[in-house]
Amino acid sequence: MLQQKEAKTCLFCDKPIKGRSDKKFCDDYCRVAYNNALRAIANTQMRDVNNALSKNRRILEDLLPAGKETSKTTQEKLLQKGFLFKYITHLSVNKSGNTCYYCYDYGYLPLDKDWYLIVRRKEE
Ligand SMILES: [Zn+2]
Repeated sequence: MLQQKEAKTCLFCDKPIKGRSDKKFCDDYCRVAYNNALRAIANTQMRDVNNALSKNRRILEDLLPAGKETSKTTQEKLLQKGFLFKYITHLSVNKSGNTCYYCYDYGYLPLDKDWYLIVRRKEE
């Protein structure tokens, strides 16, 4: 539906705005409520990403027995446990040019076929 230029509406409550043409909200209440709603969406998205990263880290930790430096696993096993490959915290490229994908202090290196090498980040 086409909107008339003069019938500008509030970004929060959608009611027509009276007064200056550069106004975006009816009043402070709508402005604050709108900004709070945006912040809530951002917080939810950040929380979801943080949860996914924490879960990825926990899965890698579970697959790397204490006392071992590295461990091998398959893509299938990672996926079964709910590992989400799109969530990583950072990358690092080793001397051989291989990329290690990290979720905090645990990481994985793609090996042949569907195999992965799980590593624990060493203190630097
Ligand atoms: Zn409003």
